[in-house]
Amino acid sequence: MSAKPIQLTIWNEFRHELKNERVKAIYPEGIHTTIGKGVKKNLAEGVNIRYATLDQPEHGLSDDVLNTTDVLVWWGHCAHAQVEDAIVEKVYNRVQEGMGLIVLHSGHYSKIFKKLMGTDCGLRWREQAEKEIIWVIDPSHPITDGIGDRIELPHTEMYGEQFKIPEPDELIFISWFEGGEVFRSGCTWKRGKGKIFYFRPGHETFPIYHNDQVIRVISNAVKWANTSSSAPFLKAAPNCKDPIMPINSKHEVDESLHKH
Ligand code: ZN
Repeated sequence: MSAKPIQLTIWNEFRHELKNERVKAIYPEGIHTTIGKGVKKNLAEGVNIRYATLDQPEHGLSDDVLNTTDVLVWWGHCAHAQVEDAIVEKVYNRVQEGMGLIVLHSGHYSKIFKKLMGTDCGLRWREQAEKEIIWVIDPSHPITDGIGDRIELPHTEMYGEQFKIPEPDELIFISWFEGGEVFRSGCTWKRGKGKIFYFRPGHETFPIYHNDQVIRVISNAVKWANTSSSAPFLKAAPNCKDPIMPINSKHEVDESLHKH
């Protein structure tokens, strides 16, 4: 492991925990804090954790915070529309530059996830406190390290296919639900230099983020999404008029065709 700790920022909408007694009872200090404490226990000196929430100035995601974040965790639900487009654009650009992004549960409908996926990211759902089994289907993947062959959650909200996402680069978990549906619960993609992991568990009225295996997956994902490569990221679409090697051809460029 590298000596430099991963700079992790955990973003939470942080509204349900303030307004709803059931949610407050499960997450008295907010979902973000519960996740943070669990990840810190697993990664110890390997991670520095900061928190950011919707109602902070710039949603807690100032340029300074974003530019010094290696991996961002995102939990949102009822207030996706209140996340300012300008902040979404900044997060989007940082992912392109190499910031890892872990999107949890109802974050499937966040502006940032939909923008990165390019699809509407809809799904079936039902809240009836049913059983879920999350099966590991890629045991070679570092995100599944230490999980065993499955995670069993006694009471969850159901998410079912079709999950309207682009084909994942890697499919890591598939969920089975007591009511009959299945769901791609753990998926990865790359966008620019950034690594993205979507992980399904996490409804606010169930103590999902108190589950050690769920926190282990998120901790593993934080390490996985931390891009160590120093390779430069190509921004925009530069016109490379000076070739790397001489080109043996005669060609007149009609520059007017390149103007927008
Ligand atoms: Zn939910």
